[in-house]
Amino acid sequence: MLEQSIHQEVNLPLLAEKQVSLCVKREDLIHPQISGNKYRKLKYNLTEAKSKDFDTLLTFGGAFSNHIAATAYAGKKSNFKTIGVIRGEELSKKWKDNPTLNQAYSDGMRFKFISRETYRKKENTSFLKELEAEFGAFYHLPEGGTNPLAIKGCGEVLDERDTDFDFICCSVGTGGTIAGIVNASDVKQQVLGFPALKGNFLKEDIRNFASKDNWSLYSDYHFGGYAKVTAELIEFINDFRFKTKIPLDPIYTGKLFFGTLDLVKKDRFPPKTKIMVIHTGGLQGIAGMNENLKKKNLPLICV
Ligand SMILES: *Cc1c(COP(=O)(O)O)cnc(C)c1O
Repeated sequence: MLEQSIHQEVNLPLLAEKQVSLCVKREDLIHPQISGNKYRKLKYNLTEAKSKDFDTLLTFGGAFSNHIAATAYAGKKSNFKTIGVIRGEELSKKWKDNPTLNQAYSDGMRFKFISRETYRKKENTSFLKELEAEFGAFYHLPEGGTNPLAIKGCGEVLDERDTDFDFICCSVGTGGTIAGIVNASDVKQQVLGFPALKGNFLKEDIRNFASKDNWSLYSDYHFGGYAKVTAELIEFINDFRFKTKIPLDPIYTGKLFFGTLDLVKKDRFPPKTKIMVIHTGGLQGIAGMNENLKKKNLPLICV
Protein backbone atom coordinates (compact mmCIF):
# COMPACT_ATOMS: atom_id res chain seq x y z
CA MET A 1 0.00 0.00 0.00
CA LEU A 2 1.40 3.37 -1.05
CA GLU A 3 0.36 6.14 1.31
CA GLN A 4 1.58 8.80 -1.13
CA SER A 5 0.67 8.56 -4.77
CA ILE A 6 2.81 9.60 -7.70
CA HIS A 7 2.47 12.72 -9.82
CA GLN A 8 2.31 12.31 -13.57
CA GLU A 9 2.71 15.28 -15.88
CA VAL A 10 0.46 15.18 -18.94
CA ASN A 11 1.55 16.69 -22.25
CA LEU A 12 -1.14 17.52 -24.76
CA PRO A 13 -1.09 20.13 -27.56
CA LEU A 14 -4.07 21.92 -25.97
CA LEU A 15 -2.17 22.46 -22.72
CA ALA A 16 0.85 23.87 -24.55
CA GLU A 17 -1.38 26.15 -26.60
CA LYS A 18 -3.07 27.51 -23.46
CA GLN A 19 0.26 27.62 -21.55
CA VAL A 20 -1.01 25.70 -18.55
CA SER A 21 0.50 22.63 -16.94
CA LEU A 22 -1.54 19.63 -15.93
CA CYS A 23 -0.39 17.03 -13.48
CA VAL A 24 -2.33 13.91 -12.49
CA LYS A 25 -2.19 12.68 -8.93
CA ARG A 26 -2.38 8.93 -9.44
CA GLU A 27 -4.45 7.85 -6.45
CA ASP A 28 -5.64 5.02 -8.69
CA LEU A 29 -2.24 3.42 -8.24
CA ILE A 30 -2.11 3.30 -4.44
CA HIS A 31 -3.53 -0.21 -4.48
CA PRO A 32 -4.86 -2.49 -7.23
CA GLN A 33 -8.08 -3.39 -5.37
CA ILE A 34 -8.86 -0.55 -3.00
CA SER A 35 -7.78 2.31 -5.16
CA GLY A 36 -8.13 5.99 -4.70
CA ASN A 37 -10.55 7.74 -2.46
CA LYS A 38 -12.39 4.63 -1.27
CA TYR A 39 -9.24 3.55 0.51
CA ARG A 40 -8.82 7.00 2.04
CA LYS A 41 -12.44 6.91 3.23
CA LEU A 42 -12.16 3.52 4.86
CA LYS A 43 -8.87 4.00 6.64
CA TYR A 44 -9.99 5.77 9.83
CA ASN A 45 -13.34 4.00 9.82
CA LEU A 46 -11.64 0.62 10.06
CA THR A 47 -9.52 1.84 12.96
CA GLU A 48 -12.66 3.10 14.67
CA ALA A 49 -14.55 -0.17 14.06
CA LYS A 50 -11.64 -2.18 15.50
CA SER A 51 -11.33 0.04 18.55
CA LYS A 52 -15.04 -0.41 19.22
CA ASP A 53 -14.70 -4.19 18.89
CA PHE A 54 -16.96 -4.65 15.89
CA ASP A 55 -16.31 -7.76 13.82
CA THR A 56 -18.70 -6.89 10.98
CA LEU A 57 -18.96 -3.98 8.55
CA LEU A 58 -22.26 -3.27 6.83
CA THR A 59 -22.68 -0.85 3.98
CA PHE A 60 -24.84 0.15 1.01
CA GLY A 61 -24.25 0.47 -2.70
CA GLY A 62 -25.31 -0.08 -6.28
CA ALA A 63 -24.20 -2.73 -8.73
CA PHE A 64 -20.98 -1.02 -9.87
CA SER A 65 -20.04 0.53 -6.55
CA ASN A 66 -16.35 1.16 -5.98
CA HIS A 67 -17.17 1.53 -2.32
CA ILE A 68 -18.70 -1.97 -2.17
CA ALA A 69 -15.61 -3.41 -3.88
CA ALA A 70 -13.25 -1.54 -1.55
CA THR A 71 -15.15 -2.43 1.62
CA ALA A 72 -15.16 -6.13 0.72
CA TYR A 73 -11.44 -6.17 0.06
CA ALA A 74 -10.41 -3.97 3.00
CA GLY A 75 -12.70 -5.98 5.29
CA LYS A 76 -11.03 -9.20 4.22
CA LYS A 77 -7.56 -7.75 4.81
CA SER A 78 -8.49 -6.43 8.27
CA ASN A 79 -10.47 -9.49 9.37
CA PHE A 80 -13.96 -8.06 9.30
CA LYS A 81 -17.03 -9.85 8.03
CA THR A 82 -18.68 -7.65 5.43
CA ILE A 83 -22.30 -7.26 4.40
CA GLY A 84 -23.34 -5.31 1.32
CA VAL A 85 -26.92 -4.08 1.12
CA ILE A 86 -27.36 -3.72 -2.63
CA ARG A 87 -29.85 -1.58 -4.52
CA GLY A 88 -32.00 -3.63 -6.91
CA GLU A 89 -33.89 -6.82 -6.03
CA GLU A 90 -33.52 -8.06 -9.59
CA LEU A 91 -29.77 -8.52 -8.97
CA SER A 92 -30.40 -11.32 -6.49
CA LYS A 93 -30.77 -13.71 -9.47
CA LYS A 94 -27.99 -12.39 -11.66
CA TRP A 95 -25.31 -10.88 -9.44
CA LYS A 96 -22.85 -13.53 -10.60
CA ASP A 97 -22.83 -11.80 -14.00
CA ASN A 98 -21.75 -8.56 -12.33
CA PRO A 99 -17.94 -8.27 -12.07
CA THR A 100 -18.01 -5.87 -9.10
CA LEU A 101 -20.34 -8.03 -7.00
CA ASN A 102 -18.58 -11.21 -8.03
CA GLN A 103 -15.24 -9.86 -6.85
CA ALA A 104 -16.78 -8.56 -3.61
CA TYR A 105 -18.27 -12.01 -3.00
CA SER A 106 -14.94 -13.72 -3.47
CA ASP A 107 -13.51 -11.21 -1.00
CA GLY A 108 -16.00 -12.56 1.52
CA MET A 109 -18.84 -10.06 1.29
CA ARG A 110 -22.37 -11.35 1.72
CA PHE A 111 -25.28 -9.53 0.12
CA LYS A 112 -28.79 -8.45 0.87
CA PHE A 113 -30.62 -7.25 -2.23
CA ILE A 114 -33.39 -4.74 -1.67
CA SER A 115 -35.81 -2.82 -3.86
CA ARG A 116 -35.11 0.74 -4.89
CA GLU A 117 -37.95 1.81 -2.66
CA THR A 118 -36.56 0.12 0.44
CA TYR A 119 -33.11 1.41 -0.48
CA ARG A 120 -34.33 4.95 0.10
CA LYS A 121 -34.61 4.07 3.80
CA LYS A 122 -30.87 3.39 4.05
CA GLU A 123 -30.33 6.20 6.54
CA ASN A 124 -33.39 5.43 8.71
CA THR A 125 -32.64 4.31 12.24
CA SER A 126 -35.56 1.89 12.21
CA PHE A 127 -34.33 0.24 8.99
CA LEU A 128 -30.82 -0.05 10.41
CA LYS A 129 -32.32 -1.67 13.52
CA GLU A 130 -34.09 -4.22 11.32
CA LEU A 131 -30.76 -5.03 9.67
CA GLU A 132 -29.18 -5.40 13.09
CA ALA A 133 -31.88 -7.88 14.08
CA GLU A 134 -31.06 -9.85 10.92
CA PHE A 135 -27.25 -9.70 10.96
CA GLY A 136 -26.23 -8.88 14.53
CA ALA A 137 -24.18 -5.87 15.60
CA PHE A 138 -22.28 -4.12 12.82
CA TYR A 139 -20.23 -1.02 12.13
CA HIS A 140 -22.31 1.00 9.70
CA LEU A 141 -20.66 2.67 6.73
CA PRO A 142 -23.03 4.89 4.76
CA GLU A 143 -23.46 4.65 0.98
CA GLY A 144 -20.34 5.90 -0.77
CA GLY A 145 -18.51 5.69 2.56
CA THR A 146 -18.89 9.37 3.39
CA ASN A 147 -18.84 10.35 7.06
CA PRO A 148 -16.59 12.61 9.17
CA LEU A 149 -13.84 9.97 9.50
CA ALA A 150 -13.92 9.43 5.73
CA ILE A 151 -13.50 13.15 5.15
CA LYS A 152 -10.53 13.18 7.52
CA GLY A 153 -8.99 10.34 5.47
CA CYS A 154 -9.62 12.19 2.19
CA GLY A 155 -7.60 15.11 3.51
CA GLU A 156 -4.58 12.81 3.15
CA VAL A 157 -5.01 12.80 -0.63
CA LEU A 158 -2.99 16.02 -0.44
CA ASP A 159 0.54 16.17 0.90
CA GLU A 160 3.34 18.69 1.13
CA ARG A 161 4.28 18.22 -2.54
CA ASP A 162 0.93 19.63 -3.64
CA THR A 163 1.08 23.17 -2.28
CA ASP A 164 2.48 24.55 -5.57
CA PHE A 165 -0.62 23.87 -7.61
CA ASP A 166 -3.01 26.74 -8.28
CA PHE A 167 -5.99 24.52 -9.09
CA ILE A 168 -6.99 21.12 -7.79
CA CYS A 169 -9.67 19.31 -9.81
CA CYS A 170 -11.57 16.31 -8.50
CA SER A 171 -14.67 14.25 -9.15
CA VAL A 172 -17.72 14.59 -6.90
CA GLY A 173 -20.18 11.85 -5.94
CA THR A 174 -21.41 12.39 -2.40
CA GLY A 175 -19.02 15.31 -1.87
CA GLY A 176 -16.93 13.69 0.88
CA THR A 177 -13.74 13.61 -1.14
CA ILE A 178 -13.85 17.24 -2.23
CA ALA A 179 -14.64 18.30 1.35
CA GLY A 180 -11.54 16.49 2.65
CA ILE A 181 -9.41 18.00 -0.10
CA VAL A 182 -10.75 21.51 0.59
CA ASN A 183 -9.98 21.11 4.28
CA ALA A 184 -6.40 20.06 3.49
CA SER A 185 -5.83 22.65 0.77
CA ASP A 186 -4.17 26.02 1.12
CA VAL A 187 -6.52 29.03 0.99
CA LYS A 188 -4.61 30.28 -2.06
CA GLN A 189 -5.53 27.15 -3.99
CA GLN A 190 -8.85 26.71 -5.76
CA VAL A 191 -10.56 23.36 -5.67
CA LEU A 192 -12.85 22.60 -8.62
CA GLY A 193 -15.36 19.78 -8.31
CA PHE A 194 -17.00 17.94 -11.21
CA PRO A 195 -20.21 16.16 -10.13
CA ALA A 196 -20.73 12.74 -11.70
CA LEU A 197 -24.47 13.04 -11.19
CA LYS A 198 -27.31 15.52 -11.60
CA GLY A 199 -28.74 17.44 -8.70
CA ASN A 200 -28.42 20.55 -6.62
CA PHE A 201 -28.13 18.92 -3.20
CA LEU A 202 -24.36 18.61 -3.39
CA LYS A 203 -23.41 22.20 -2.59
CA GLU A 204 -25.25 22.04 0.70
CA ASP A 205 -23.61 18.72 1.66
CA ILE A 206 -20.14 19.99 0.84
CA ARG A 207 -20.69 23.22 2.75
CA ASN A 208 -21.59 21.17 5.82
CA PHE A 209 -18.30 19.29 5.72
CA ALA A 210 -15.84 21.81 4.26
CA SER A 211 -14.03 24.24 6.53
CA LYS A 212 -13.20 26.78 3.79
CA ASP A 213 -14.92 28.16 0.73
CA ASN A 214 -12.13 28.04 -1.85
CA TRP A 215 -14.11 25.61 -4.00
CA SER A 216 -16.66 25.61 -6.77
CA LEU A 217 -18.63 23.02 -8.73
CA TYR A 218 -18.83 22.58 -12.51
CA SER A 219 -22.10 20.79 -13.04
CA ASP A 220 -22.24 20.45 -16.83
CA TYR A 221 -20.23 17.27 -17.12
CA HIS A 222 -22.47 14.53 -15.72
CA PHE A 223 -23.32 13.13 -19.19
CA GLY A 224 -26.95 12.51 -18.30
CA GLY A 225 -26.55 11.44 -14.69
CA TYR A 226 -24.93 8.91 -12.41
CA ALA A 227 -23.37 5.99 -14.32
CA LYS A 228 -24.76 7.35 -17.60
CA VAL A 229 -22.33 7.43 -20.49
CA THR A 230 -22.36 8.56 -24.12
CA ALA A 231 -20.32 7.49 -27.15
CA GLU A 232 -18.52 10.85 -26.89
CA LEU A 233 -17.40 10.13 -23.33
CA ILE A 234 -16.15 6.65 -24.20
CA GLU A 235 -14.28 7.97 -27.19
CA PHE A 236 -12.67 10.59 -24.92
CA ILE A 237 -11.63 7.95 -22.36
CA ASN A 238 -10.07 5.76 -25.05
CA ASP A 239 -8.33 8.67 -26.73
CA PHE A 240 -6.97 9.98 -23.41
CA ARG A 241 -5.58 6.57 -22.59
CA PHE A 242 -3.99 6.25 -26.01
CA LYS A 243 -2.29 9.65 -25.69
CA THR A 244 -1.25 9.61 -22.01
CA LYS A 245 -1.29 5.92 -21.01
CA ILE A 246 -3.62 6.86 -18.14
CA PRO A 247 -6.78 4.75 -17.85
CA LEU A 248 -9.96 6.52 -16.71
CA ASP A 249 -13.20 5.06 -15.40
CA PRO A 250 -16.52 5.93 -17.06
CA ILE A 251 -18.44 6.91 -13.91
CA TYR A 252 -16.19 9.47 -12.25
CA THR A 253 -12.73 10.20 -13.59
CA GLY A 254 -13.65 10.10 -17.31
CA LYS A 255 -16.15 12.89 -16.71
CA LEU A 256 -13.67 14.77 -14.52
CA PHE A 257 -10.89 14.80 -17.12
CA PHE A 258 -13.33 15.62 -19.92
CA GLY A 259 -14.60 18.56 -17.88
CA THR A 260 -11.15 19.79 -16.88
CA LEU A 261 -9.87 19.78 -20.47
CA ASP A 262 -13.06 21.47 -21.64
CA LEU A 263 -12.45 24.26 -19.11
CA VAL A 264 -8.87 24.55 -20.39
CA LYS A 265 -10.33 25.01 -23.90
CA LYS A 266 -12.66 27.69 -22.52
CA ASP A 267 -9.77 29.58 -20.86
CA ARG A 268 -10.95 28.99 -17.30
CA PHE A 269 -7.30 28.68 -16.26
CA PRO A 270 -5.02 31.70 -16.79
CA PRO A 271 -1.71 31.11 -18.66
CA LYS A 272 1.16 29.85 -16.48
CA THR A 273 -1.11 28.26 -13.92
CA LYS A 274 -0.54 24.79 -12.57
CA ILE A 275 -3.45 22.38 -12.49
CA MET A 276 -3.51 19.13 -10.56
CA VAL A 277 -6.21 16.58 -11.31
CA ILE A 278 -6.89 13.89 -8.71
CA HIS A 279 -7.32 10.44 -10.24
CA THR A 280 -9.57 8.88 -7.60
CA GLY A 281 -9.47 5.39 -9.15
CA GLY A 282 -12.64 3.44 -9.89
CA LEU A 283 -11.06 1.33 -12.61
CA GLN A 284 -12.65 -1.84 -11.25
CA GLY A 285 -15.95 -0.54 -12.65
CA ILE A 286 -14.83 -0.71 -16.30
CA ALA A 287 -15.53 -4.43 -16.72
CA GLY A 288 -19.14 -4.10 -15.57
CA MET A 289 -19.70 -1.01 -17.68
CA ASN A 290 -18.36 -2.79 -20.76
CA GLU A 291 -20.91 -5.57 -20.25
CA ASN A 292 -23.66 -2.95 -20.39
CA LEU A 293 -22.14 -1.14 -23.35
CA LYS A 294 -22.07 -4.39 -25.32
CA LYS A 295 -25.81 -4.81 -24.76
CA LYS A 296 -26.45 -1.25 -25.92
CA ASN A 297 -24.20 -1.56 -28.99
CA LEU A 298 -22.04 1.30 -27.80
CA PRO A 299 -18.25 1.35 -28.24
CA LEU A 300 -16.33 -0.37 -25.43
CA ILE A 301 -13.76 1.11 -23.07
CA CYS A 302 -10.31 -0.15 -24.04
CA VAL A 303 -8.55 -2.13 -21.33
C1 LIG B 1 -16.75 7.40 -4.97
C2 LIG B 1 -15.87 8.00 -6.00
C3 LIG B 1 -15.80 9.38 -6.21
C4 LIG B 1 -16.68 10.36 -5.48
O1 LIG B 1 -16.32 10.53 -4.15
P1 LIG B 1 -17.30 11.25 -3.13
O2 LIG B 1 -16.53 11.34 -1.89
O3 LIG B 1 -18.51 10.39 -2.99
O4 LIG B 1 -17.66 12.58 -3.70
C5 LIG B 1 -14.91 9.85 -7.16
N1 LIG B 1 -14.14 9.02 -7.89
C6 LIG B 1 -14.20 7.69 -7.73
C7 LIG B 1 -13.34 6.84 -8.57
C8 LIG B 1 -15.05 7.13 -6.78
O5 LIG B 1 -15.09 5.80 -6.62
